[in-house]
Formats: sequence, structure tokens, C-alpha cells
Amino acid sequence: MIKFLDLQKINLLHQEAIEARLLKTFRSGWYLLGEETRNFEQNLANYLGVKHVIGVANGLDALRLILRGYTELGFMQQGDEIIVPGNTFIATLLAITDCGLIPVFAEPDINTFNISVENIEKAVTPKTKAIMPVHLYGRIAYSNELKALAEKHNLKIIEDNAQAIGATWNGIKSGNLGDAAGFSFYPGKNLGALGDGGAVSTNNDELASVIRAIANYGTTEKYVNKYRGLNSRLDEMQAAILDEKLKHLDAENQRRQEIAVFYNNNIKNDAITLPQIPEKGNEHVWHLYVIRTTDRTRLQQYLTEKGIQTLVHYPIPPHKQEAYKEYNHLCLPITEKIHTEVLSLPISPVLTDDELTIIAEAVNSFQ
Ligand SMILES: *Cc1c(COP(=O)(O)O)cnc(C)c1O
Repeated sequence: MIKFLDLQKINLLHQEAIEARLLKTFRSGWYLLGEETRNFEQNLANYLGVKHVIGVANGLDALRLILRGYTELGFMQQGDEIIVPGNTFIATLLAITDCGLIPVFAEPDINTFNISVENIEKAVTPKTKAIMPVHLYGRIAYSNELKALAEKHNLKIIEDNAQAIGATWNGIKSGNLGDAAGFSFYPGKNLGALGDGGAVSTNNDELASVIRAIANYGTTEKYVNKYRGLNSRLDEMQAAILDEKLKHLDAENQRRQEIAVFYNNNIKNDAITLPQIPEKGNEHVWHLYVIRTTDRTRLQQYLTEKGIQTLVHYPIPPHKQEAYKEYNHLCLPITEKIHTEVLSLPISPVLTDDELTIIAEAVNSFQ
């Protein structure tokens, strides 16, 4: 059986280094808001080329905290609108609605799976305060047109960068393109912790200090609470692990790129549409390798029988979820087509060339 994602094998690559870091943290007697977290925040900030990184408890919190931060700063208030792609993981939506903000769905471009600027423009109203592009599957959803549109309407760009750490646009890293970005270190992400973790990045000093305070009970100095905060902190153990794994992120992302190129060159089946590789200078980090077919159920079944595990990201779009009944009536044909047709093939830095050949041959023999 070729697993969709072999997390054990991925983490065993770094076993010795991680064990040493964990032992050091264990023995330090300091487990929250300490040296390991500060160190990782600084190393990630340097990697991204941003001024501030704030470690938080998970990716959903990172996005919530950015919106809470802008609300505390008076840039937005409850009832304002945030434009999001219709096809995303539910967390993007939860961050918005949890802050009392209104999500406005824009359709993606079916070739890139990312939010289209044309459709964002149609969704702008006087209540719009931000655009939340999601760099879905590891591909950057940013362009000069997006930036110009945001500037024209005085909108913030908040990147959902949970899936694209290390990706670049014209040489600039994701997380350093908009006004602020949320990262997830969920174990299955390209930079994965051994548990939950997340981060916010921004070049805005004021926003960074508000978010740092809100994430720690709204505390500006010990036992002084300026905001009604949350408890959302990255712990020292996870920070130490992430700091170690960050050193290998580029090499692991490069292996993902090799795999994507291999699949694109070797999968030949008229029933299947392959994902597009962006132009040079724009590095896609292939968190997921997602193909499309109108015959998904049968293809997935066929691959299972051949010993290849695949997944669907995602089977139900947010606007059709029971949690969002008020949006169930919306009709987003491109989003819905994507959710009906996509299938994710295994991709990870530990897949072997032999496994890739088996997968490509299996997909090619499907009819
Ligand atoms: C994983 C993910 C999140 C949430 O991250 P968690 O760490 O699981 O809270 C948010 N948005 C997208 C697009 C994701 O893939």
C-alpha cells in the first residue's frame, strides 16, 4: 500500500536532531513563551523576509487573530465583509465568521484553483474591508492585479498561507505578499509540528503587537489586560521541532516539485486534467498534487484496488456545509465543479522514484 502521506517516515528523517532539541527543552524547565519560540519566530521571519512572526496555537487561530487585530485597531468591525474563495478549507470561513465578519464568496480560476481577481472585483461593496486569498494546494494566489485592486478599494490582503510555506511570487515568499498572513503547522502541512501549531507574519508593527497581546489573554504587561484576548500560543516543544525542520523545508519542497514534474510528464490519460506548473520565478510548493476527472469515484476506487491511497480536498465546499446553512442556497458553479472532480495523488518528500512510477502507471491504465 502506498500511503497518501507517511508522516512517520517524514519525521524519522529528522529523528536525532528533534530528539536532541526536545530533550534540551524538557530539561530547560521553561515550556511557554520562551527562548525556543522567540528563536523560531526570528528564524521564520528571516526565512520569509518579514519584520514580525508571532507563534500561535494553530492555523485557524492565526487567521482569527489577524482579523481580531484589525478589529481592535478600528480598521474593521462586526458586519464588515471579507472576500474569500468559494473553494477552500473550512478554517478560512470559520476565522471570518468567528469574528462577526461576513464572508463574501468569489469563484476561483479552474486552471489554478485560486481566487480570480475578476471575480473579486465583482464582489467588492462599500462594506468590504479585506480580501483573504488562499494559496491553495501550495500555489500562490497573488498578482499585480490583486494588489492594484486592493489598493484601489483600500482593502487589506490577508494571506491564508496554511498550505504554501516556502512558495514564491517573483522571488518574494508567500506570507510577505499581503498585509498579514496566517500559517499552519498541522502535522500534515509542508512544515509540520508533532501536534498543533501556527503563526502570523506581518510587516506592520502595530498589528504585530496587538496580535501578540490578544494571543496571550490580551495582556500588554503582566496582569494588565488591554483586550479580551485568547490563549493561543505556540509551545516551546513544537517551536523547537519546527525550528529544526525549517532548515530542511526548501529541500523537501524541492522534492515535492520534482514529483509534480514527474507526474505531469508521465501521466497521460485523456480522462484526467493535470495541475499546471507556474512560470519560473513563481515556486509552487505542492502541498497537494490535485488532478481533476469527471469519473472521480471510479478512479479513486481503481487506485485503492491497486494499493494507492488518495484523498479528496475537499468533498463539500464551505457554502454547502450544514454549519453555513445561510449560504446553502448560493450557486458557485466553478467551486462546485472543483469539489466534484478533484482527487489528490500522494505527494511528499519521502515517496521513492519506484512508487512514483507505480502511481503514474496505475493512473495511465485507468479507463
Ligand atoms: C490547515 C488549514 C488551515 C487551518 O490550520 P490548523 O492549523 O489546522 O488550524 C487553514 N486554512 C487552510 C487553507 C488550511 O489548509
